[in-house]
Amino acid sequence: MKIHEYQAKELFKKYGIKVPKSVLCEKREDIETVMKTVSLPCVIKAQVHSGARGKAGGVKLARTYDEAVRIANDILGMELKSTQAGIKKVNKILIEEAVDIYKELYLSFTFDRTNECVAMILSTEGGMDIEEVAKVSPEKIHTLLIKDDFNPIETVQKLGFNGGITYILCKYIFMLYKLTKEKDASLVEINPLVITKQAEILALDAKINFDDNALFRHEDISALKDEKEENPLELEAQKFGLSYIKLDGTIGCMVNGAGLAMATMDVIRLAGKDAANFLDVGGGASSEKIEKAFKLLISDVNLEAVFINIFGGILRCDFLAEGVKNAIKTLDVQVPVIVRMEGTNKELGAQILNESGLKFTVVDDLNEAIEVIKNI
Ligand code: ADP
Ligand code: MG
Repeated sequence: MKIHEYQAKELFKKYGIKVPKSVLCEKREDIETVMKTVSLPCVIKAQVHSGARGKAGGVKLARTYDEAVRIANDILGMELKSTQAGIKKVNKILIEEAVDIYKELYLSFTFDRTNECVAMILSTEGGMDIEEVAKVSPEKIHTLLIKDDFNPIETVQKLGFNGGITYILCKYIFMLYKLTKEKDASLVEINPLVITKQAEILALDAKINFDDNALFRHEDISALKDEKEENPLELEAQKFGLSYIKLDGTIGCMVNGAGLAMATMDVIRLAGKDAANFLDVGGGASSEKIEKAFKLLISDVNLEAVFINIFGGILRCDFLAEGVKNAIKTLDVQVPVIVRMEGTNKELGAQILNESGLKFTVVDDLNEAIEVIKNI
């Protein structure tokens, strides 16, 4: 789960990490009043779940009150076209006092799967796209694998600082790591972490992603979810306990089991097409759940066909067939539906589909499925 910069900055403050003074604004009619409370110059920042907002015109400096009001009106409500997250409507802006930047740094904690531990990444190249820095000048990126008793001093010294700044940076690193661990974050990133001309250290940007599987033990974090930022189909799926992820292709998939879902996406690729989604209905889905899943799938606008690939173990093939049949009856399905079922009550399932009077292509195996999908 992702949260907004302003929410991440509130969390930072709780952990002792300093951020510039700011105020949030969500309504156009509040802009003028809110702006009177902010010292100038200020920076107006689109609050959307995306990085690279600056490049997309979502972060702008204003020197006067009139300029600030004009920019705030431009950014609030705009459609931000970011390279990272596509088009995002801006529903909230953060108005923040501008700070005098002496040096921009990069600091993050993320999970290093190869080494099975958290990794800290530190660089002097703050404010830049860190993937780009890693490509162009990898020597400027310093990584420290975090074990129980870690000491970041040597890594910090690689940045070329001496004295007090080194110790404040180490303190920030410990505070940020505490947050990462206590809140089960999968990524905590400050880009840039700045040293100001007044020799203060401040987080100018704040990005935190949380591990969805740990949200059950963090009510405070779950409460920060902004549903407007989520894909509406994915949200709907979550309500019904379905695992659904929207993808860019044209073949809708309904599958049970994540492994089978991955294999099904490979099969679609072999047929020269791409999956429109990942949808795992789970092992013990009822026919109602199947019906819901199918409705969700079919509401995608880019569909060329639907491919249902089910292994009937705990989920019986006749339950699947009932669910799909009921869904199709109530929907105006314009695309071909290809069904491959294997396992418990396979024959009964096929019979239900064949006798439904509705159009299905029931295939016996994956090779046959590939041929049908190829010819769509
Ligand atoms: P993004 O990474 O999404 O583009 P940032 O919050 O990092 O958004 O802002 C982009 C850049 O704008 C920063 O790298 C920094 O140089 C500048 N910036 C952001 N906030 C401030 C601020 N309060 N004062 C001065 N400059 C800022
Ligand atoms: Mg940034």
